[in-house]
Order: sequence, then C-alpha cells, then structure tokens
Amino acid sequence: MTSSTPLFQLNGLSALVCGASQGIGRATAQLFAHQGARVVLLARDLEKLEATRKTLPSPEEHLCVSADLAKSSAIDSAVETILQQMGSVHILVNNAGGPAAGPLLDAQPAAFEAALNTHLLAQLQLCKAFVPGMKAAGFGRIINIISTSVRTPIANLGVSNTIRAAVAGFAKTLSNELAPHAITVNNVLPGYTQTDRLSALLQAAATRESTSVDMVRENWLKQVPARRFAKPEEVAAALAFLASREAGYITGVSLQVDGGRIGSI
Ligand code: NAD
Repeated sequence: MTSSTPLFQLNGLSALVCGASQGIGRATAQLFAHQGARVVLLARDLEKLEATRKTLPSPEEHLCVSADLAKSSAIDSAVETILQQMGSVHILVNNAGGPAAGPLLDAQPAAFEAALNTHLLAQLQLCKAFVPGMKAAGFGRIINIISTSVRTPIANLGVSNTIRAAVAGFAKTLSNELAPHAITVNNVLPGYTQTDRLSALLQAAATRESTSVDMVRENWLKQVPARRFAKPEEVAAALAFLASREAGYITGVSLQVDGGRIGSI
C-alpha cells in the first residue's frame, strides 16, 4: 500500500453479505462494492437481491444467491454455488432478520429453535465453509450484525436477547481461535436503524401499548442522545471499516453504532 492509496478500500477482496436484500445488509453490500469488493448477496428473495445487484458498480462482477439461513441444506447449496462461482470469500457478514418481538415466557420453544438455527448455527456452518479459504489467503474478516442487547437486554425482545448473547459468546471464542491466522471476528451492534425491522418493532410496540407509532417513535428517540435513528448506511460504514485491511488488529470487539444510546462507558 502506498501513501497515496485511499484508506479502507476493499479492492481485491470478496465478501459474502447475508441478509442483503434490504436494510443494513443491503446498505453493506452496496458500500462494500463501492469500496472495491466483489460481493455475494445472499437472502431468500432472489428478485430483490437482483434488484440490489443492479445498483452496484460493475453489477456483472457480483453474485446473488438465494438461501434460507434457517435451513442447513439450503446453506450447503449456497456454499457450493459460491465456492464454484467466486472461490472462497475473504469477508463474511453474518446477518438475518431479527426474531419476533415479545416477552420471554410468551415465546414458544420453536421460536428459540428457529432463531438458533438462523443466527447461530447458520453462522457456524458458514464459518466452517469459508474459514479454510481465509486461512489459505492469510486474511479474513468475520463480522456479525447483532444488537446492542448484548450490552443491555431490550424489553420485549426475549428470544432476540437470548440468541444475540449466544452469538456474542461464539464470536469472542472464535476471535481467539482465528487471530493467529490474521482472521478477525467482530460484532456490529446497531441501535435503532431506519429499516423494515424498525418499522415492524415500532408497530408491535404501539399495538402492545395501545398507542400510536408516532408516540412510540418519540419515546424511543428520547433514549438516543443523537435524537435520531441511524441510516442503514451509517451502520454499513462500521462494517466497511472492520472489513478493511487497516482494521487487522481489531478483533473480538462489539462495536455499538447507536447514537450514544447505551449508557455504559
Ligand atoms: P431487516 O429485517 O430489514 O433485514 C434482514 C435481512 O435478512 C433481509 O435481507 C432479509 O430478507 C434477510 N433474512 C431474514 N431472514 C432470513 C433467512 N432466514 N434467510 C436468509 N435471509 C434472511 O433487518 P435490519 O433492520 O437490516 O437489521 C439487520 C439485523 O440487525 C437484524 O438481525 C436485526 O434484528 C438487527 N438489528 C436491527 C436494528 C434496527 O433498528 N433496524 C437494531 C438492532 C439490531
């Protein structure tokens, strides 16, 4: 790298971004491609993925793969396609939709099982598939999009709070195992971010509290020192930094992108 090389470029790197059809995952795929990475966009809805691919620079260089992360056989097929068409990936972004809202004891065991499959076991399967290629390349970045709930559990997100903590424990353990191979493992913790997920959570809270979405929004904004929700692109920027070559000595961390909402130092 010369002194004139712009920082945080992803040229020459390939990235698998899960949950790339909307929200934070979509913004991440777009930013990574703009930073020079070849991107595999993965989610269930191929049409939405293809629409996103068309927004990327040099769309023909990127690949869309449809898979349901809740199904291990679907992940196997996706891995096979990716390895055939792109080779291994240098950057793996683990991301999927958050579990449904609700108090812990209202949740059925099946909801925990589904969340465990989609978030933890999918991640395990993808790491097993792509870490050997990262080791061979002497470079790897694994980034999990989870939640600030790993710092302070969020009311009425019983299943999510439980599963996110498991993912955080998994990631810290893996970061120690992979650090000698120049592979970093980190978590990004979004605060309130303007996506379909946030709209669904606002609506669920308004229904639960018999009030309006506007009232809930106002109350939530009061908890955020920045007094606004994040744009998905602002969360993606944290991922692009952690994915970069320059972030090679940052591993095992959970980076809040929350406008200051978490109160601890
Ligand atoms: P989102 O619901 O808008 O997008 C989730 C993406 O994951 C979509 O592309 C969706 O199609 C994909 N996906 C969901 N289930 C899948 C499955 N089984 N297989 C494959 N793909 C699947 O979510 P978002 O707002 O972009 O958030 C991303 C992550 O960050 C989520 O886990 C969310 O819970 C978490 N988070 C979001 C916020 C927020 O305010 N938006 C705050 C904290 C944490």
